[in-house]
Amino acid sequence: MKTITDFFGTMVFNDHVMKERLSAEVYESIQNTIKNGKHLNLEVANEIAKAMKDWAIEKGATHYTHWFQPMTGITAEKHDSFITPKGDSSVIMEFSGKELVKGESDASSFPSGGLRATFEARGYTAWDPSSYAFIKDGALCIPTAFCSYGGEALDKKTPLLRSMESLGKSALRILHLFGHTEVTGVKPTVGPEQEYFLVDMEMYNKRPDLVYTGRTLFGSMPPKGQELDDHYFGTIKPKVKAFMKDLDHELWSLGVFAKTEHNEAAPSQHELAPVFTTTNLATDHNQLTMELMQKVAKKHGLVCLLHEKPFKGISGSGKHNNWSLSTNTGINLFEPGETPSENAQFLLFLCAVIKAVDDYQDVLRISVASAGNDHRLGANEAPPAVISIFLGEELTEILNAIENDEKIGSKQKDVMRVGVHILPKFPKDTSDRNRTSPFAFTGNKFEFRMLGSGASIADTNTAINTAVTQVLNEFYDTLSNAKDFNLTLHNLIRDTIKNHKRIFFNGNGYEEKWIKEAEKRGLSNLKSTPEALYHLLDEKNIKLYTENKVFSEKELRSRYEILLENYSKIINIEALTMIDMAKKLIIPAVSKYTSDLAKTISVKKEIGANAGYEEITCKKLSELCTDAFATTIELERKLSEAKKIKGAYEKATAFENVVLATMNRLRAQCDEAEKLTAREYWPMPDYGELLFGIR
Ligand code: ADP
Ligand code: MG
Repeated sequence: MKTITDFFGTMVFNDHVMKERLSAEVYESIQNTIKNGKHLNLEVANEIAKAMKDWAIEKGATHYTHWFQPMTGITAEKHDSFITPKGDSSVIMEFSGKELVKGESDASSFPSGGLRATFEARGYTAWDPSSYAFIKDGALCIPTAFCSYGGEALDKKTPLLRSMESLGKSALRILHLFGHTEVTGVKPTVGPEQEYFLVDMEMYNKRPDLVYTGRTLFGSMPPKGQELDDHYFGTIKPKVKAFMKDLDHELWSLGVFAKTEHNEAAPSQHELAPVFTTTNLATDHNQLTMELMQKVAKKHGLVCLLHEKPFKGISGSGKHNNWSLSTNTGINLFEPGETPSENAQFLLFLCAVIKAVDDYQDVLRISVASAGNDHRLGANEAPPAVISIFLGEELTEILNAIENDEKIGSKQKDVMRVGVHILPKFPKDTSDRNRTSPFAFTGNKFEFRMLGSGASIADTNTAINTAVTQVLNEFYDTLSNAKDFNLTLHNLIRDTIKNHKRIFFNGNGYEEKWIKEAEKRGLSNLKSTPEALYHLLDEKNIKLYTENKVFSEKELRSRYEILLENYSKIINIEALTMIDMAKKLIIPAVSKYTSDLAKTISVKKEIGANAGYEEITCKKLSELCTDAFATTIELERKLSEAKKIKGAYEKATAFENVVLATMNRLRAQCDEAEKLTAREYWPMPDYGELLFGIR
C-alpha cells in the first residue's frame, strides 16, 4: 500500500522535482526568483518550461493552462494542448519559456470594472513562480497573475503579491532596527479553516434555489436543529468519511497540507483545516480545496455547499483566517519570546496589528463583504459586523500595566518597562475561550473570523497585510530617528495601547449589549455589503492602498464597481429564482392542496361529518396563497425598478433595502404555508431531509 508520504505532492512541480530535473545553474536562478523576486531570463524560462512539460507528460498530462483568479472569486483556466504540428502531418509536444511566463487571454467577459474596454479585450496572465505548478485533470496548471495591457490588476492574486512585498520590506526594516541583520525576508503566513455543508445530490437537484444560488430561499425549520450540539465533533458518518478520505488523497497529491477534518456545529456541516503556509500559496491551496471539495463530493453522490448561509436558522459557514508573520530564518514574529528584547519586539508587532485593526476596521470589514456573508455578519451569529480584538485576560492585563506604568501582578518588583523586563507567561491558545471575537490573538497568531466560507482569502489578506504595512512604516519613522531606542520604543508601545484600546474586547461579541458599547466607543458597524463598500473609496483608504503600492486609485475604483455590481447581480438571481419557485412550485402546490381540502370539505358536509381541520387549514392556506402571490408580483415590480437604477452604489442599496426586504416577506409567507401543507404535496425536499438526509 502506498503511504501518504509516497503520494504527497506527486502532482506538484515542487522544489524537490526542480532540484532533480533542472541543471544546478537553472535551479539556482529559479530559487533566486522564488525567494528574492529576481527577474528570470528567457533561456532559464525555456529550460524550466521544457522540464515542466516532460514531467507533466510523464504524469499523463496533455494540456497546459495558465491558472488565475479573476474578480469572480473562482479560478479560471483556459486549456491549450502541448501539440505542435510538424511539417509531415505528425505532431510534437512543445512548451516554451515564453508560453510559461506569459499568456494572452481573451478575457472580455471577466469583470474589470471599466479597466479594460471590451474592444481591448485582451488581458495577459503572468507566471507566479512563488506558487508551484501542478497537474489537475490531465492539465499542467501554472499559477498566474492576471493583468490588463495597461498593467492594471484584473485579479485577486496581483494585489495580494504586492501587499506581501510591501509588508515584507516594512517588517524587515523594523527587524533590522532590533539588530536582526541576519534576517533577509519576512512573509505573512496563513492557515484558513474552511467550513462547508454536504447535502445529498438527489435532494439538491430538486431544489432550484440550491442549484441557482447555493442557498435555500425557502424552508421552515425542522423539529430538530443544532440545539443539542450533538453534531459538533461527533462521529463522522461513513458516507462523509469516505468523501473526506478521497478529498484528503486528492489534496495531498496536489501538495495541499490538509490536516484536520471534523464535524461542525450545524447538522451536515464540516470543517477542513490545512497546515499554514505563506499567504499566496495558502490562497492558491484554498481555491484548490474549494474546487476539489465540490468535485469529490459529486463522486460520492453529495453536493458540497460553500455558501455562507445555506439554511436559515442554522449556523452559517465561515473561514477562519489564521495569520502571522514569519522570517526567512524561521522565526514567528508573534511568538512572545523569552528575553526582554524579544518581548519588546513582540509587543511592537502586536501593537502594529492592534493599531492597524483599529485604524482600518472598515477596510477589514470591506474585505469580507459579500451578499452571502451579510446573512452571517448582520445576524446574531458568527462574529458581528463590529470589529474588535480579543487578547485574553492575561495579555490585556500586561498591556494595561504598560499603559499605566504599573507592576504586573504581585510578583513583579518594578513597573513594567519594555525592553528591560521580561513579560510574564500567558496561556498560548486562549482562542477556545472566546469564539465570538472577530479578531482573536491566539498565542502566536491572529485568527480573523469574519471571512465567508465561499470567498477567496486573497482580499482579506491583502487588507490585513496592507494595514499592518502602513502602521509598521509609521512605527519605523518614529523609531529610526530615536536617540534613546528603548525609551522611544516604550513610549510608542504605551501610546499605541492608550490610543487604540477601544478595539480590545474580551467579552461575548454576540450580545446586543456589546453592539451598544461598541457604538459608544466609536467603533464602526457596517451591517451590509453596500454600506461597507461605500467606504472603500474614503480618502484615508485610497491613501492606504495607493501609498503602500497595493492598488492604484484606478484599480480601487474599478473594484468598488465590480463588488457592488456583483452584489446586485447575486440578489437579482436570488429574486428571480424565488419568483420562479413561488409561481411554478410553491403556490401551485398549496393551491392543489387547498383544492383537495375543499373537495373533502364538501364531501364531508354532504354526509354531515365534521370538517374542522380541513376548513381551518384551507382558509388559512388560501389566505397565505393569495398573500404570497401578491408579494411575488410586488417582488417582480420592485426588481425591475431596481434594475433600472443607474449608479452601482444606489442600485446595490435598492437591492438591499427594497428587493431583499420583499424577498424576506415572500419567504415568511411561503414558510408559513409549508408548515400547514401535507408533506406529500410539498414540491421539494424540506429542511429536515436536507439537513439529516445523509445517513
Ligand atoms: P482552531 O479550530 O482552534 O481555531 P485549528 O487547529 O483548527 O484551530 O486551526 C488552526 C489553524 O491555524 C491551522 O490552519 C494552523 O495551521 C494555523 N496556524 C498555526 N500557526 C500559524 C501561523 N504561525 N501562521 C498562520 N497560521 C497558523
Ligand atoms: Mg479557528
